[in-house]
Amino acid sequence: ENLIDVSQTILNERKQHLGKSLSLQYQQPLHIVKGANQHLIDAFGNKFLDTVNNVAHVGHENFNVVKAGQQQMALLNTNSRYLHKNITTLAKELLETLPEELSVLHFVNSGSEANELAIRMIKANTNSDEIIASEHGYHGNTNKTIAISSYKFDGKGGKGKPQNTHIFPIPDTFRGKYRGEDIAKKYAKEVQLLIDKIHKQHKKVGGFIIEPIISCGGQIELPQGFLKEVYQKIKNAGGLCISDEVQVGVGRMGKTFWGFQFHDVVPDIVTIGKPLGNGHPIAAVACTKKVAEKFANGMEFFNTFGGNPVSCAIANEVLKEVKRKKLQENALKVGEYLKSELQNLTKKYTIIGDVRGQGLFLGFELVNKNLNPLSEKTDYLINRMKYYGILMSSDGPDRNVIKIKPPLTFTLENAKEVIFYLEKVFDEDFMKHN
Ligand code: PMP
Repeated sequence: ENLIDVSQTILNERKQHLGKSLSLQYQQPLHIVKGANQHLIDAFGNKFLDTVNNVAHVGHENFNVVKAGQQQMALLNTNSRYLHKNITTLAKELLETLPEELSVLHFVNSGSEANELAIRMIKANTNSDEIIASEHGYHGNTNKTIAISSYKFDGKGGKGKPQNTHIFPIPDTFRGKYRGEDIAKKYAKEVQLLIDKIHKQHKKVGGFIIEPIISCGGQIELPQGFLKEVYQKIKNAGGLCISDEVQVGVGRMGKTFWGFQFHDVVPDIVTIGKPLGNGHPIAAVACTKKVAEKFANGMEFFNTFGGNPVSCAIANEVLKEVKRKKLQENALKVGEYLKSELQNLTKKYTIIGDVRGQGLFLGFELVNKNLNPLSEKTDYLINRMKYYGILMSSDGPDRNVIKIKPPLTFTLENAKEVIFYLEKVFDEDFMKHN
């Protein structure tokens, strides 16, 4: 059978049978059939270096993770109503990476479910679901998580901000509302204004949610001191803080295992998703004892798949692999190298306006002299990099930020390859004229 025909048939069948709001990457979509660590292989045998997938945390089709899943699947898979050590082992292993205050876990199946549960916990604790969140933030695809995701309700097809959601300006120090001096304080003050507004409406503050690096917003690093100040303000108002670690957690930040640790704060609730199952759907909510106890008000929390022995076996192996292969250290080493090489490129290519991020969670932004976004060039760059066998993705409200968030098995050689081809594309005519 002709492989081009097979790809075309799949494309046609998708169009015919799947919802139109599902999108495909690339003008000419890829037909990927195999993963191998930080590489993906298409139906034609072409090999691509993957700088996009922060789900395949310990490498696509990681041998030990696959084996752990296969073995447990052959033995038993049930819900969590029987005693099984996989779930308690996973709870203990995760808690070991978290501050003491965070001592209770609930397991779910996706980042959206984790944030959904976190919001329920807030409601159970504060009797309020007035939620404060960042502009351009994304926290999931369910009703409530869409309702707190400005990335969605302010974007295409969105219906605007719901009444009980309160949005502060994205704390972007490069192209945001405030730049320059005292920036953390200025952005934190915006959060205080929202707290005051909620109080003026004679309502209580429920909680605050943010990612330690705002991913969909364009890899926006929070200014140092911002989170600490905001957490205190929320606490003073009687609200709870969620750290959405769905993208950045489990060692990706390099310097710290969790993103909130980078900002020296302790959230009331931490949501964990993507990397935990290395592609298998498992996610988790960690919270304080106090939060968990208020949530357990008599109503059972049942989740058919959450915390099943197979998912837990997989997650346990993911955590082991991170340790065994020193992947957090690797994220730091390779990430810092890549970031500094990208910073070097800014000297030669002025359209790279800003390079940012931590560990293997980086971004760079393409702008003209007036800091206006160059989304067409960003799209061009991504398609040219694909031609050279490197998968990259873009995001941000103006689609002009290239995100780099590969499997943590990414090597220095891989980073060099990315820089080599980036230079090649930046030297092309289309990229030169502003
Ligand atoms: N939070 C963040 C920060 C995310 O990036 C995502 C997914 N992109 C989610 C939550 C939702 O996770 P999921 O798609 O697993 O439901």
